[in-house]
Amino acid sequence: MKKIKQSWAEPYKIKMVELLKMTTVAQRKKALKEAGYNTFLLKSEDVYIDLLTDSGTSAMSDRQWAGMMMGDEAYAGSRNFYHLEDVVKEVYGYKYLIPTHQGRGAENILSKILIKKGDIIPGNMYFTTTRLHQELAGGKFEDVIIDEAHDSESNFPFKGNVDLNKLKSLIKKYGAPKIPYVSMATSVNMAGGQPISMKNLKELRALTKKHHIKIIHDMTRVAENAYFIQQKEKGYADRSIKSIVKEICSLTDGATMSAKKDALVNIGGFLAVNDYDVYEEARNMVVVYEGLHTYGGLAGRDMEAMAIGIKESVADEHIKARIGQVIYLGEKMMQYGVPIVQPIGGHGIFVDAKKFLPHIPQDQFPAQTLAAEMYLDSGVRTMERGVVSAGRKANGDNYYPKLELVRFTIPRRVYTQAHMDVIAESAARVYERRDSIKGMKMVYEPKYLRFFQARFEKL
Ligand SMILES: *Cc1c(COP(=O)(O)O)cnc(C)c1O
Repeated sequence: MKKIKQSWAEPYKIKMVELLKMTTVAQRKKALKEAGYNTFLLKSEDVYIDLLTDSGTSAMSDRQWAGMMMGDEAYAGSRNFYHLEDVVKEVYGYKYLIPTHQGRGAENILSKILIKKGDIIPGNMYFTTTRLHQELAGGKFEDVIIDEAHDSESNFPFKGNVDLNKLKSLIKKYGAPKIPYVSMATSVNMAGGQPISMKNLKELRALTKKHHIKIIHDMTRVAENAYFIQQKEKGYADRSIKSIVKEICSLTDGATMSAKKDALVNIGGFLAVNDYDVYEEARNMVVVYEGLHTYGGLAGRDMEAMAIGIKESVADEHIKARIGQVIYLGEKMMQYGVPIVQPIGGHGIFVDAKKFLPHIPQDQFPAQTLAAEMYLDSGVRTMERGVVSAGRKANGDNYYPKLELVRFTIPRRVYTQAHMDVIAESAARVYERRDSIKGMKMVYEPKYLRFFQARFEKL
């Protein structure tokens, strides 16, 4: 007898729905033009399925909403802060917690404390805000991710790994005292949500320990990384997500967190460290940039929702359904021949715009163009992760990243399988008429993080 497949399904049911506006092609054409062909500048109201980001777009649970009602909005010493502190210690194992309004708030404080002018910050691929804060603090980011990460066709299961030889050469070239820490992200966003293996992280720990270099963990998607370790790394199949998450954190010295991703809240973040001296300085500095150290720019209710969300985020059944949905979409797109980054990552599907639109040169923004075409076709909003996002170097030249991608990011617990079908079919339709699609030129460019506000015109 044939074995019947056992599908994953959501470990929750729907209690409330949000109605969406359906638009026509003509309406979308107009909206796109008004937005300067930048999906960041579209009005959310004009979007049908919003895959711009998985940041702050999760659906909270009934328990989190109940937690919101338990907000203790005291200026100092809110009960919710102590709850969050307990949860961070229990789930992640870091000793000291500084809440911040979101991830970049933590990055700002940490970079100011640990980086001196002229320092080198190696990392497993840059992230936009993370690198910018490192640079604003006087440091220089150096990419030490393995080469496979820059190859959209490599099927290596742990494309988030650090190339230890690249790191060794940096240590040799600059000397360990010039390297305050390695910036290590789990589930590397810009590589397509690709995980780092525990084996690689252990080797990284051994090497950095030898040279007295810290590891600072960008733990925005640590639970999703843990899922790939559980599924693909030898020796972890029987381990819970919770125990893998804790082991990852135990191999690092501190972390910045955007709780708007893994932790299932709409706003929030934190800095967590094990070193008392760093904590002491951060606790002083947070007052300047975010708020008192027991709220860091958040309402008490936000901290409560975050504490509950963190616990929900490391449940095995949650992560299995979360990533199951992403894989469902990716496989469907592959069936239609749409070129995507493989293996499929944790938080979305990354379409390879260089392969999708090979006739459009990188300085005519193929990924930006494709994101605009997707919106036009079906009202699905995606995001450019290519030459626009990469920005300019200190000397004014463009960075030309190898990967020119469009990110289809899946919000957690928000859309259904039918939505996934609509997205895949729309991508297939655009792919079918790819030869007729023309590139764009940038007509307005802001100085920092240009991808948010840049404007374009069709060529
Ligand atoms: C979102 C994100 C950040 C920044 O966090 P914000 O909450 O948006 O400020 C940092 N690192 C990674 C990997 C992220 O995805």
